[in-house]
Order: sequence, then structure tokens, then C-alpha cells
Amino acid sequence: MTTKNPRLRATLAGIPAYRAGTAAAATDGAEPHMLSRNESPYPPLPGVMETVAATAASVNRYPDLACTRLVRELSEHFGVPLSHVATGTGSVGVAQQLLQATSGPGDEVLYAWRSFEAYPIITQISGATSVRVPLSSDGRHDLDGMLSAVTERTRLIFICNPNNPTGTVVHRAELERFLDQVPDDVLVVLDEAYREFVSDTRAPDGIELYRERPNVCVLRTFSKAYGLAGLRVGYAIAHDPVAEALRKTAVPFGVSQLAQDAAIASLRAEEQILRRIDVLVRERARVRDALSAQGWTTQDTQANFVWLPLGRHSADFATACGTAGVMVQPIPGEGVRVTIGEREANDVFLKVAADFSRRPGGR
Ligand code: PMP
Repeated sequence: MTTKNPRLRATLAGIPAYRAGTAAAATDGAEPHMLSRNESPYPPLPGVMETVAATAASVNRYPDLACTRLVRELSEHFGVPLSHVATGTGSVGVAQQLLQATSGPGDEVLYAWRSFEAYPIITQISGATSVRVPLSSDGRHDLDGMLSAVTERTRLIFICNPNNPTGTVVHRAELERFLDQVPDDVLVVLDEAYREFVSDTRAPDGIELYRERPNVCVLRTFSKAYGLAGLRVGYAIAHDPVAEALRKTAVPFGVSQLAQDAAIASLRAEEQILRRIDVLVRERARVRDALSAQGWTTQDTQANFVWLPLGRHSADFATACGTAGVMVQPIPGEGVRVTIGEREANDVFLKVAADFSRRPGGR
């Protein structure tokens, strides 16, 4: 046996592990409420469950490679050409394909920070260099700062709208101004993983912005509002060269037939999904109001989570939540992101927040 290890690409060194929002048992041994991954708290809709069960009978077969029916449904749903729809293993899978398609060593990938934690990871894997522009003090994208950071090496720009973890949105007018000034050969990715939860009418629908702009690509997912996080299916809407590049870089048969069929069934159950979104958005308002009443200052979140900028108290707060039976997502030294869940789970979190805010030096 030799003692040599296989040679791995140097760019992989130092890539942080993805924070998976791990579960820990509550003190009473009950299953914790998971408010750490921005998942839907609702079980799959009955029709979706039946579809998945029926498809399970043929998992000895490969899925439809081209996701033909799902692509057709999405193209009709959004009124976009078939060739502009590309699917992948979650929207993070599609984001990684976009990097494969555009960026490598010597190139720059620009995004706001703090934002979705996968951006630095997938950028580093591609070999390109991350250029991060800090969020403004109110947790929003600094689009002027981002424009100033564009260089001739910039290949891709992520705009996370709403932003994970702050929940803030970029408004339509400012985004249009930004897009007008970004060079045409730089791909702008509007990551709209949480778009369905947006109620602020100033926020753009990326799919409207993409139509006239060949360098804009919209990312959406079935993981959040549609409640299919466990099945791994997301998609991009983009003009032909970009969508075609996504088909070239896709993992063959990556989107399972279970995922394809469940996604179609969920799209067709839109009314029920919209009702669930409505309940969740009202619950989000209730949680924010309760936090304000406790004296917390939070951003105007438009996603299915709230962000508490707790700074050095973040880890303590997350531990207190865990002990009370709710798992939340701390970003040490910065803040804690808490997904809006069922009312009961939110109430446990709110109780911890109330106790914490009363603690000497608690906030
Ligand atoms: N984009 C953003 C902003 C996210 O927060 C997430 C999930 N945390 C994703 C993309 C990826 O979601 P998925 O791969 O499940 O579609």
C-alpha cells in the first residue's frame, strides 16, 4: 500500500462545509421543530403524495432525461418558450451548472454578502474568484457598490431576491437601473428561491425582467413554497444560449421521475399552494409584529424566514432555541435566521426571543 493520496484540485482546499442545519433533541426528548432550513412546514399535498407513490412503482427505470412534461408545464405556466426552461437538482444544482457554464480560474463572480452560503462554495469549486460586496446597514443589496465592483473579469453576478438570510428585497426600479449598466456579456442570475412569499409590490418578478434581457437568468425552486425540498428539483428561465448551456452541464438523469411528477402535480395544485403561502405570509407578519412588540428590530423580510442580527449573541440564542425544542440557523458573530414554521413552532421561538430579550445583555 502506498501512503500517497490521489491528487485533488488545489481550489478545493479551504472550502467551508455546507451548514446543514442539524437537528438536536430537545430537553424533553421530543422531535425538535425544524426552523433552520427554510423548508415548508406543511406535508406534501394529498394529490402530490399519490403521484409520488404511483411513480415509485417504476423507480427501476431512469427518469425522462429531458424532463419533457415538466418543462412543458413550466413553459405554459410562465408563458416562455420551451427552450428557455432548464431543470436541475434543486436550484443550487442549477446555480452550480451556471458557474460551470460561465466561470473558471481568472474569472470573477460577484455577489452581495452576507447572502446564500452556497455562492462562495460553488464559486470556489469552479476555480473562479468570489467578489463580495457587503450588504448595506439595513441588510439590503448595495447595487451601486456592486456596479463599481464589476471588472472585465466579471462573468456572473448573483442577485438573491429576497436575500437569504436577511429576507430583504431589491426593488424593480433599482434593479432595472442596475441591469441597464451591467455589461451585456455578464450573466446576471436572479435567484428567486423565495419569490412566491414576496408581498412587497415594489419587488420585481424576475421573469418579466428576463424577457427583454438575454443576459438575465432567473432561478426558481420547488423546494420552498411548493414544499418539495426532499425531491431536489429547481429550474432556470433563461434565453437560448444560457438554457442550452444548462442542458449541456446537467447531471444526466439528475432530476428523478418522482421529482418531475411531484413538481407537475404541485404546479397543477396551485390554488392550494397559494392558500398555504397566504397562511405562511400572515404567520410571518404575526411573528414580526410579536418580535417588534418585544423590542426587536428586524428587516422587512419578504421570504419564509426572519433574521435577527444578534452579533456575538447568535450562538447563545441558537442554543437557547435548541434547548426549547426549535432548531434555528445561527451564523456565528452575525445573526440567527429563523424559518417561519407552524404556529406552535413559531410560538416556541417567540417565547425564547422574549426571554432572551429580557436577559441582562441578552440582545
Ligand atoms: N437559493 C437560495 C437563496 C436558497 O436559500 C436556497 C436554499 N437554501 C437555494 C437557492 C437552493 O434551494 P434548492 O437547491 O433546494 O432549490
